[in-house]
Amino acid sequence: MYNKIMNKDWHQKNRMPVNATDEQRAKWHIEHLKNCDCRKPTANIQKLIDKYRAEK
Ligand SMILES: [Zn+2]
Repeated sequence: MYNKIMNKDWHQKNRMPVNATDEQRAKWHIEHLKNCDCRKPTANIQKLIDKYRAEK
């Protein structure tokens, strides 16, 4: 059984805020994708990422 590679160090330093806004979540996931490979974004998360990437 394989474990996905998790960047625990990054996760410890980058906690998702409890009541995160969509923008905070989008930014978190954008950084997460760059730094960690523990999970793939869901369709909803991907939409959020695309939205905030487009808006910049
Ligand atoms: Zn991760």
